[in-house]
Amino acid sequence: MATISNIAHFEGIGLHTGENVKLNIHPADTGHGVVFVRTDIESRPKVPASIDYIDYRQRRTALVNDGVEIQTPEHFLAACYGLGIDNLLVEISGPELPGADGSALPFCQALMDAGIEEQGTGKTIKIDSELQVDRDKASIKAMPDTGFHIEYTLDHDLDFFPKQVFSLEITKDSFIKEIAPARTFVLKKEVEALQKFGLGKGATVKNTLVIDDDGSIIDNELRFADEFTRHKILDIVGDFFLLGARLEGKLYAHRSGHNLNALLVEKIQACQS
Ligand SMILES: [Zn+2]
Repeated sequence: MATISNIAHFEGIGLHTGENVKLNIHPADTGHGVVFVRTDIESRPKVPASIDYIDYRQRRTALVNDGVEIQTPEHFLAACYGLGIDNLLVEISGPELPGADGSALPFCQALMDAGIEEQGTGKTIKIDSELQVDRDKASIKAMPDTGFHIEYTLDHDLDFFPKQVFSLEITKDSFIKEIAPARTFVLKKEVEALQKFGLGKGATVKNTLVIDDDGSIIDNELRFADEFTRHKILDIVGDFFLLGARLEGKLYAHRSGHNLNALLVEKIQACQS
């Protein structure tokens, strides 16, 4: 496990709330975990990044403790998992993490710039038998394996959107190179529905890949041909941070999103106790 050597600062707009927020990210001791502190609320309430505080919402992750929420932590938590960082105290001046460029790379850079400080061997959970959760056409299952592997199948039943499969072992290097730069995406026809729900207020074509009706990307360019699939893997890495341990096993995900990923995290945790 690890923390950072110095305080890191980060600032930006939340993708859903559109609010500008500042982060002061502090080192923390072994066993602390990643804990958010809402500095915009007088009592400075804390919200731990743990599956115990998950609140199931449409298309995104939220953590809620005693009515105090932290929205969209998943890309930041993916950076933590990917870099092997487990312990941080994150002061945040609003309800939602900055969207940055839609990927985890800016968070990785800020954390790496602060210096990564190793804290010895952390907790690992080893998958010893198949565990699966399904909903409609989506599924995610965990199988025994050495290391942490993820295979994602993106399959939207849309003519212009070919089925994509991407598989890799998550290591610090592979995460930084292959996964962290992959940005979040949305179909143009979904944008209106999201905005009707009051979401996506801070989303632009620069921090979210918007896919037009013909499959082209509006006013932006892909970083990888299969960037969408890689981003779905990034989301899984972020959701699995909530397990509170490193996973040893292989995940096979088919069309799964945050809610299903979190249900599998809960199921894996339940098998431990
Ligand atoms: Zn995402």
